[in-house]
Amino acid sequence: MTLPEVIRAAPPPVHPEDLAERQDVIAAALAMLREGLVVGMVGNVSRRLGGRILITPSRTPYVSMGPEDLVLVDLEGRRISGAAEPSIELPLHLAVYRSHPEAAAVIHTHSPKATAWSFLGEPLLPETEENRYYGVGPVRTDPPAPAGSAALAEAAKSMGDSLAVLLGGHGVLATGATLEGALDVARVVERQAEIAWLLRNSAS
Ligand SMILES: [Zn+2]
Repeated sequence: MTLPEVIRAAPPPVHPEDLAERQDVIAAALAMLREGLVVGMVGNVSRRLGGRILITPSRTPYVSMGPEDLVLVDLEGRRISGAAEPSIELPLHLAVYRSHPEAAAVIHTHSPKATAWSFLGEPLLPETEENRYYGVGPVRTDPPAPAGSAALAEAAKSMGDSLAVLLGGHGVLATGATLEGALDVARVVERQAEIAWLLRNSAS
């Protein structure tokens, strides 16, 4: 096959209608990885597209993830498109969208300092300037529940008006009115946990 034939044979872009949104989800996942909020293929990212949710797939490394790897589901979790399985934490994401109509994106990380704090079972205190600046609100810690379980999805309800909650012995659940906003919330919670640990260690 000559080069022009190869070019003509190239498949058309998949999902051109929401390609930019898909690229945004991948960019957020890569930022999460680059900043040490997760490792490898752990954690997950989703964003709302009208009445549908675009979410990262299960067990796919972020560094090799393409737009076509993302999974599109409805608010009941029924798959609309995407060959891969959606993230195991899809019920957790859906619970946030159902209980927070203003939520445009959800990010779940295992960032180390916040995750360490989640093992204490305590609210994340004190509130920091960043917490106030970004309007995150009180960050509670939910009781431990298995990954992917309906019990874990209950964490969405305990967020209340806050933009984040700690999942007991597990990690961080963050949301926002934009995808970048949700990523900022995840960053703010990790920074807040770092400060909380500094204070806790200085007191001992
Ligand atoms: Zn997790």
